[in-house]
Amino acid sequence: MTRRTLLVGAGAGVLGVLLASCTPEPAPSPTPTPTPTPRPTGGAISPAAFARSAWTTDPFSLGAASFTPVGTQQSAREALAEPVEDRLFLAGEATDAEAPGTIDAALRSGDRAAEDVLRVAGTGERIAVIGAGLAGAAATARLVSAGAEVMVFEARDRVGGRVQSVVDEKTWPVPAQLGGWLLGAADAEMLAQLTRLDIRSATVSTSSWRSAEGAVDAVSDEPVRAAIDAGQQRPADVSLADALAEAGVDVEDAGLAALLAAVSSASGSDADDASTWFPPALPPTERTAPLGDLGAVLDDLLDGARVSLSSPVSRVAYDDAGVSLGIATGESLSFDRVVITVPLGVLKGEGLQFAPALPFSHRGAIAELGMGRIETVWMRFEESPFAVAADPSGDAVEASPAPEATAGVWHVVGGDALIRTWIDLSPVTGETVVVGIVGGEDAQTFAELDDTEVLEAAVTSLAPFLATP
Ligand SMILES: Cc1cc2nc3c(=O)[nH]c(=O)nc-3n(C[C@H](O)[C@H](O)[C@H](O)COP(=O)(O)OP(=O)(O)OC[C@H]3O[C@@H](n4cnc5c(N)ncnc54)[C@H](O)[C@@H]3O)c2cc1C
Repeated sequence: MTRRTLLVGAGAGVLGVLLASCTPEPAPSPTPTPTPTPRPTGGAISPAAFARSAWTTDPFSLGAASFTPVGTQQSAREALAEPVEDRLFLAGEATDAEAPGTIDAALRSGDRAAEDVLRVAGTGERIAVIGAGLAGAAATARLVSAGAEVMVFEARDRVGGRVQSVVDEKTWPVPAQLGGWLLGAADAEMLAQLTRLDIRSATVSTSSWRSAEGAVDAVSDEPVRAAIDAGQQRPADVSLADALAEAGVDVEDAGLAALLAAVSSASGSDADDASTWFPPALPPTERTAPLGDLGAVLDDLLDGARVSLSSPVSRVAYDDAGVSLGIATGESLSFDRVVITVPLGVLKGEGLQFAPALPFSHRGAIAELGMGRIETVWMRFEESPFAVAADPSGDAVEASPAPEATAGVWHVVGGDALIRTWIDLSPVTGETVVVGIVGGEDAQTFAELDDTEVLEAAVTSLAPFLATP
C-alpha cells in the first residue's frame, strides 16, 4: 500500500466527518458508570450512594492493569515498546518495564513514545494517537509542545481511560474514583500535576485488621518478602504462591490471605500467577489519595490537540509510507505516524486488527504478558454503620476533616469475604465513605455480578467492621 492509496482511501468527505467529530457527541459507550443506588434485598445497612466498576468486562480495557506472569521476562515490555517500521509507536502502562500497571507507567510510556516519534518525524507530518487515557494524553502533550499536529481517537465518550473520576457533588463529598488513583512516592509526575492543578489529596496510612472475632494483629509482609527473595535466587522463575509454599509459609492462613488480597487489589494478579523474578509491589505503608477530579489532569495534557470521542479504531493498516486508520463507524483516515495506547487487554482481543499483523516480537509480548483484574466499589452512608474509625484507637470519626487527618486501610481477615481490602475515607471527607478494592480471580467474580449482588457482597465483606455484624 502506498501513501497515495492511503489518501484515496481516506477521502475528502471523510476528513470533513473527522473534523465534525472533534466535537464530543453523546453516544452510548460501554464504560463503567456510576449506577443508581440499588436497594439491598435483605441487608441491615443501606448506603446513600453507591458506584462500582466493571473494567474486566469493558471492551475498551478488558482488564485493569498488566502484570508479569511467572516465567515471563520483563523484556517482553521492551519488545512491545519497539517502534514498528517507524510508523507505529506503542505506549500504555504495559509497555513500561519500570512500574507496569500504574499511572506512573502510563505517563512515562506516553512521553517515551512521543520522543520516539519526534526522533523520526518530519515537519508538518500528521500524527494520530489512539486512546485518550494517561499514556495517550502524555504523548499528545509532548507532541503538541513540539509543534506537531495531533489527532486523538478515543473509543469512549469521555477521556481518561482507566482513570475515571465521577464528579457529582450532590452524591459524593469527593469524586468517586472508579479506576486508578492511589499514588506512591515514585509517582512524581502525577503528584506534580496534582499540585500544579490545585487538586487536593490525602495520605492513606493507618491500617486496621479485623476478623469476625474483632481486631487482630497486623499481618507482617516479611514472609512474602522472604519468599520473593528466595524465588529470585532460583535458576527458573517460580510463582509467588509456590515460593511461599516452598518457604514453609501456610498459604491457607487467613491473615496471609488478607495480605495477598491487598497485593492482588493493587497488581490485579493472584499469587498463583505472579512472578517472583518480577514480583507485584507489596502494599506500601503510605500512599496519596487524590480527592479531586483527575479529569483535569487529562484536559490539561490534551490541551491543543483535536480529540474525537466515541471513535473506536478497528483497523490499523501500515507500510513504509504511512498508516491508515479504520474507525468502527466506517471512516478511514491516513496519517504519517500513529501512537497506539490501547490497553493490553484490547491488544490481546480481536477488536483492533493490524494489517500486516504486528511483528512476532510484539505478538509474542502481547501473548506472554498478563492482563490483571481490579475492580472497585464506593459507598457513602448517611450514618456510620461501622464499629471502628480509621483511627486504630477506635475514636469516633470527626464531623469535619481535620487538616492532619489520614485515610485508613481496612483488611478483612477470614470468612468468605469477596472484598478484603477497603479504604476508609471518612477522616478526610467528613462523611462516611468507604472504598472496596478487589483483584485477581475475585475481581473477575465481582465484574460478573449485577449491582445488587455487588452491594450485598460489599456489605457482607464489611461485616467485621460493622457495629452490628
Ligand atoms: C480499578 C483500577 C484501579 C487501579 N488502581 C491504581 C492505583 O491505585 N494506582 C496506579 O498507579 N494505577 C492504578 N491502576 C492502573 C492505572 O489506572 C493504569 O495503569 C493507567 O490508567 C493506564 O493508562 P493507559 O493510558 O496506559 O491506558 P488507558 O487508561 O486504558 O487508556 C487507553 C485508552 O484507549 C482507549 N481505547 C481502547 N480501545 C480503543 C480503540 N479500539 N480505539 C480507540 N480508543 C481505544 C480506551 O478507551 C482508553 O481511553 C488501576 C486501574 C484500575 C482499572
